[in-house]
Amino acid sequence: MTGVAVRLEGLRRTFGTVHALDDLDLAIEPGELVALLGPSGCGKTTALRILAGLEDATAGRVLVDGKDVTRLPANRRGMGMVFQAYSLFPHLTAAQNVEFGLRLRRGPLTRAAGMLDLVGLSGFAKRYPHQLSGGQQQRVALARALAIEPRVLLLDEPLSALDAKVRVQLRDEIRRIQTEVGTTTLFVTHDQEEALAVADRVGVMRAGRLEQLATPSEVYLRPATAFVADFVGLSNRLSGSVNGDVVEVLGARLPLVTPHAGGAVTALVRPEAVDVVPDPEATATVLTSSFLGSTSRVTVSVGEQLVVAQVPSGRLPELPVGTRVRVTIQPVAVALE
Ligand code: ATP
Repeated sequence: MTGVAVRLEGLRRTFGTVHALDDLDLAIEPGELVALLGPSGCGKTTALRILAGLEDATAGRVLVDGKDVTRLPANRRGMGMVFQAYSLFPHLTAAQNVEFGLRLRRGPLTRAAGMLDLVGLSGFAKRYPHQLSGGQQQRVALARALAIEPRVLLLDEPLSALDAKVRVQLRDEIRRIQTEVGTTTLFVTHDQEEALAVADRVGVMRAGRLEQLATPSEVYLRPATAFVADFVGLSNRLSGSVNGDVVEVLGARLPLVTPHAGGAVTALVRPEAVDVVPDPEATATVLTSSFLGSTSRVTVSVGEQLVVAQVPSGRLPELPVGTRVRVTIQPVAVALE
């Protein structure tokens, strides 16, 4: 799909001396799910609240379907919202909660049943929120948000209060449902795995700005900056030297994500790009070795440097502490510090 459904243009927001947003630009395509990801305090929620109309921007514009809605009140922006804390009305049943939004917008109440069906809760229409699990309550909240056929769906840490297993289930469900209904969606989270799993594109934020906006695989495999490489996944910091458009690290020649003038640098190398093979002739030594299930994590000392490798468990022979290993690095693109 092409075009722009949501455009945030030069958004600034200050709270006293705090710059919560500092010239934020973001364009979301129709039907796209963009996740805003970043550490606590980077401005994710402020961006979402300004898009929703719950917060005023200090400067900048918000456009939805090409229309400037910057001055429009929240209830006239056609946004569906789901928050972290369960925001269901406790005295209304699941169906009545979903109908609530429809009543306000004079929509057909018969849609409530269909919406509960969509979120997998058709048998739960008459239950009150206290008779539902946390995950089920969030499903009702999602059904309520979608019932009004919003132009944009806004999800602010919708899974944060749930336990790990339910979180993954509901995350996949949200993706399925969002794809099915095709609603343009902004999903705010501080959880990198969640952002990568759920989004078409991930916007990594830092100090009120977008550091990178790209597909999950691009953000992970070709992080634009050291901040992104660090925040999304783990990285080894290894010394290397730039030579043309590659950086040489531990004998490997790795392509650079962005060009660099040359010379001595610190390269950020993913643990899964590092491989270790036992070799009695080698000088690198295993310091720690942990079995993590499907993968194993091995820390190796190579000269002065510590290198972490993450390798599929089945492929790795036992590597007791002290084993001499040869370290190789796959030629994946790396960011520099
Ligand atoms: P978190 O993941 O912790 O919710 P966030 O990335 O969503 O963080 P915001 O909630 O947008 O960050 O906050 C951005 C900055 O603005 C923070 O420094 C925060 O303290 C500040 N801030 C947000 N709202 C207000 C407010 N109403 N008054 C004063 N400061 C605020």
